[in-house]
Amino acid sequence: MKRSLILFLVLLFSVYSCSKSKSNNNSTALLALAVLSSAGSTCTSSTSTGSTITINSATLDSGSGCVTGVTTCMDSALPAWIKNNFKCATGYVSGTNYVFKSKNLPNTKSSYYGSSSTLYEARTTTGTNPNSTSSQSLVYTIPSSATKGTGTDSTQGGLVSIGITVNGLAIFNNAAAPPDTLSVEALTFDNFQGHPQNSGVYHHHAAVPKVCDGASSTSNTGACANSTLIGIILDGYALYGQKCDKGTSSTSDDFTPTDLDSLHGHTAVTTHFPTATYHYHYANDPTATIYTLMGSYFYGTKGSVSN
Ligand SMILES: [Zn+2]
Ligand SMILES: [Zn+2]
Repeated sequence: MKRSLILFLVLLFSVYSCSKSKSNNNSTALLALAVLSSAGSTCTSSTSTGSTITINSATLDSGSGCVTGVTTCMDSALPAWIKNNFKCATGYVSGTNYVFKSKNLPNTKSSYYGSSSTLYEARTTTGTNPNSTSSQSLVYTIPSSATKGTGTDSTQGGLVSIGITVNGLAIFNNAAAPPDTLSVEALTFDNFQGHPQNSGVYHHHAAVPKVCDGASSTSNTGACANSTLIGIILDGYALYGQKCDKGTSSTSDDFTPTDLDSLHGHTAVTTHFPTATYHYHYANDPTATIYTLMGSYFYGTKGSVSN
């Protein structure tokens, strides 16, 4: 249903941009957009996250933008900022929580799919990481009304993941396995700045170039230099790129916040939150000594995650 609407929209846009000036009639396209966003899906706890994926023969589905066979299902009861942005996962509302389930397979090529995989791409980094990416059964239960916590709840402590990116991938914090700092571990990132831990959970500590910059690899400190929504953290707060969008859809007034707390966050408006709301930014992290998605502590009261 949703895909046919997307195809319809694409068709509509192409016909319309060939035949008309963009300025004189946006109403048809806007109507199609309205239909698309209100179409909605019904996703529940029993919605499958997709078929069993065989890594060696896995492909990317250009339609879904996910690994072929991975489900995107965002329930219509989810708020717009989630259901219009998250994919390669299933999501729904359960009581006072949002629940996300993900196979956690990167929708990019990666050296960590292994050299036998159709999705293999050699990485340019030189660090050693013997792990390889495998399909997971991650379940995030995240409070739908994020509330301020003590600010001392550690993002470490054996959590399977501390948040989920808009492309369905695990978010890890600013730490590396001791005695390394994350800047050392970054030498094992693949071309899309992620890597798997020892049970095959692919994750991002730092930039998510596939989300922020569309595609290709970027340096650890230069990526996500925009206000892209990157994901949601386990405490229910949103995570953005380096910039804040000032609550407008224009990117010309985006700015790099100067009032971030030690948790990479601040309270401000965004396009998704017209009332000033706490959120995190991808920011330079003194513990990691590189830019990271998260710092050492959660701002809010966290939900739970299992795998
Ligand atoms: Zn890691
Ligand atoms: Zn901000």
